[in-house]
Amino acid sequence: MTHPRLRSAVTDAAPKPARPPGAAPVTHVPVTHVPVTHLLAANENPYPPLPSVREAVVAASGGLHRYPDMAVTELTTAIAERYGVPPEHVATGTGSVGIIKQLLQATCSEDDEVLYAWPSFEAYPHLAEIAGVRSVRVPLREYAHDLDALADAVTDRTGLVIVCNPNNPTGTVVRRAELERFLDRVPGDVLVVLDEAYREFVRDPEVPDGIELYRDRPNLAVLRTFSKAYGLAGLRVGFAVAHEPVAAALRACSVPFGITGIAQTAALASLRAETELMDRVSTLVDERDRVVAALRALGLPVPPTQANFFWLPLGDRATAFGEACAAAGVQVRAFPGVGVRVTIGEPAANDLVLEIAAKF
Ligand SMILES: *Cc1c(COP(=O)(O)O)cnc(C)c1O
Repeated sequence: MTHPRLRSAVTDAAPKPARPPGAAPVTHVPVTHVPVTHLLAANENPYPPLPSVREAVVAASGGLHRYPDMAVTELTTAIAERYGVPPEHVATGTGSVGIIKQLLQATCSEDDEVLYAWPSFEAYPHLAEIAGVRSVRVPLREYAHDLDALADAVTDRTGLVIVCNPNNPTGTVVRRAELERFLDRVPGDVLVVLDEAYREFVRDPEVPDGIELYRDRPNLAVLRTFSKAYGLAGLRVGFAVAHEPVAAALRACSVPFGITGIAQTAALASLRAETELMDRVSTLVDERDRVVAALRALGLPVPPTQANFFWLPLGDRATAFGEACAAAGVQVRAFPGVGVRVTIGEPAANDLVLEIAAKF
């Protein structure tokens, strides 16, 4: 039987990273005999959407027979105003994962290289693979980006460099001076992407805001998302801020009508409710600091984190810890042989994690 030709980059690609069990939608109504399950595996916001956001979503559902605004005009304008950038510098996508795909399409031809630290966000290798782009991974040092090694690894083939700040899954950050030194070393014709999915959880004043850094750097793009701090992971809205040629290329690579009208409306409503949402973020930040301090008091070497999750470098014991959590009704993200990433949830969930860790 003859099969249609398919790109080998796609057919040879490893399967997509398995969806962390914590990301599974909770569709059942909890009943008393089912143990409470805390979903701490996908760095989601534990708080459900605000009533004002839900109301906006319900109202927008009346327009479901229409295509959404393909240019995402209102949301783009609101983002531009919020961050003090020209609307031409904003490109939206179906989550920042969608934008990373657009970035690869916009910068790399087959056999070009995308450069990033490792371990970092699991979507990077998968998206590179199906694009036919070679991944060059630079190992973390002390759980953090080794920016000198990353700059050393830039070659003529490098089409894109990704710096995840704070880094998923370790939560570690790069600070202003080292990042600026790094950016000064990367040739101006190579695009650097600063993935700031967890920016709103950062409290370290030495961690630069990418949207300040990009202003005089035409080869820097900054990624933000509504999935984490804004609690809209289920609606898929992210955006990039970059100078016009890059932002325009990203818009050209977007899936037409990719961001639904409901998603655009919900993101707008979330920007309007920002004060309320950032109060929740502060609660999560306080919880993060409390949990990390307690884990260190237990003797666990938790790397410093500025995100809504922390990293347990458990090596060979990672899987066992993941299983102990699952048995107690907590879903975490274990990377076999490496470590475990645990999302900060509501206090009760965090307490349970501390109990499990104390017994482990
Ligand atoms: C969660 C996450 C994102 C956000 O993905 P969305 O597609 O916007 O939901 C992006 N980058 C990193 C590093 C993440 O951890």
